[in-house]
Amino acid sequence: MINRFISVLTGVLLISLNFNVTTAQAQSDNFSAEQLTQIEQIKKQALESDIAWNLVESLTTEVGPRFPGTPGDKAAVAWAITKFKAMGFDKVWTEPASFPKWLRYSESAAIVSPAPQPMHITALGNSISTPKEGLKAQVIEFETLAELEDSADNSAKGKIVYINYRMNRDRDGNGYGPAVEARSRGAVVAAQKGAVGYVMRSVSTAHHRFAHTGGSHYKEGVTKIVSSAISNADADQLHRLIALGKPVVININIQAESMGEGISQNVIAEFTGQENPEEHVLIGGHLDSWDLGTGALDDGAGVALTMAAAKLAISHGKPKRTIRVVLFAAEEFGLWGAKAYVKANKKSLSNIVAAAESDFGADRVWAFESNVHSSSLPLVRDIAAMMKSLDIEYIGKNSARGGPDLIPFREFKIPQFQLAQDGTDYFNYHHTADDTLDKIDPIKLRQNVAAYAVFTYMTANAKTRIRGKK
Ligand SMILES: [Zn+2]
Repeated sequence: MINRFISVLTGVLLISLNFNVTTAQAQSDNFSAEQLTQIEQIKKQALESDIAWNLVESLTTEVGPRFPGTPGDKAAVAWAITKFKAMGFDKVWTEPASFPKWLRYSESAAIVSPAPQPMHITALGNSISTPKEGLKAQVIEFETLAELEDSADNSAKGKIVYINYRMNRDRDGNGYGPAVEARSRGAVVAAQKGAVGYVMRSVSTAHHRFAHTGGSHYKEGVTKIVSSAISNADADQLHRLIALGKPVVININIQAESMGEGISQNVIAEFTGQENPEEHVLIGGHLDSWDLGTGALDDGAGVALTMAAAKLAISHGKPKRTIRVVLFAAEEFGLWGAKAYVKANKKSLSNIVAAAESDFGADRVWAFESNVHSSSLPLVRDIAAMMKSLDIEYIGKNSARGGPDLIPFREFKIPQFQLAQDGTDYFNYHHTADDTLDKIDPIKLRQNVAAYAVFTYMTANAKTRIRGKK
């Protein structure tokens, strides 16, 4: 009985503590009590809204893959313009971005001996073709790119280099960076060691048999050799066979083509600010995708959820500052849209008060972090407090990296934010034929929209603007 009384008392204490927190927020230097009520309403609306789902369903169904330089890419640009206009954005426009155009035609592979069988393979972006009949050679395995780099000159002479490195699975995707090195420049290092072809274990955490594609590069003065990746299941099989000690011969047949410079478009839309229109919040994702799947997670979700968040953020009226949504072109091939954006908008970059890109799938946002001038941290903490009920942690390190397309913005010290999504399963599907709409959970997508809507409303309407690190 006494215990029960104590727990009731504690409950009352907790309620009054919560009440004090709310009171403190209501007295925030940055927002009026009315604004704080509106933020709560926007959050609730977002958690019941299907705007983002309808957008990503439409994009992945009616457009499909959006590989730069293809008819799908063009259709996506037209799709985005139409949707932005239908959603009532005040301004919608495009800005060109050039990129090195490359197309995949066909790809197949097989183990020829000692145990003939097919392998599931994909060309890495930018790869040259093999001869029409394929490239047949013995395989030499390395555990890591570093092991290949440290091997003797001509260690791979006349062979196909295979790198068996497996990326690790983690919520924050930290396994991607170390694994992607082998994708990016494995073919160059292999060629330097005398190899005639290059194949790697996919940058993947999956158990399925899809191969993961992704960007790769050649280096001037180094012979170009075919660059490819096999599924995790095929990688395991190849590794087991090599471990038996007999020479393993494979045949790779990849037909692809580099076609010089291509042109795509960044699609940009704004809700114009009423008091400080030149100052703007920048959110968005990338409109392009790889050609194998329909780019639902990468990055149809980011496109849809930031478009939806901008719309919800103005549901109580036009913002104080401008809200700009940027759908970047040709990200997968090397951030070409983002680089073009920075070049074309250099003069107005200092007017960005907050920037965040969503490009890590569609799982729930679990953490919020800033990268701003210290004087803006009280405002950041106000935003974090509003995200708490969405089960989002505040990471107070103030060193956020806000999405791949914001990399070219970094040198301009704009305030960047990360609304970190749970990436535990992201690399099961990333850059595969299996990146399709069914991988998106509509309820988790809504939580993303709520987080971005809160972020967008608060950064666009705060009394003072957020400043970047100096
Ligand atoms: Zn992406």
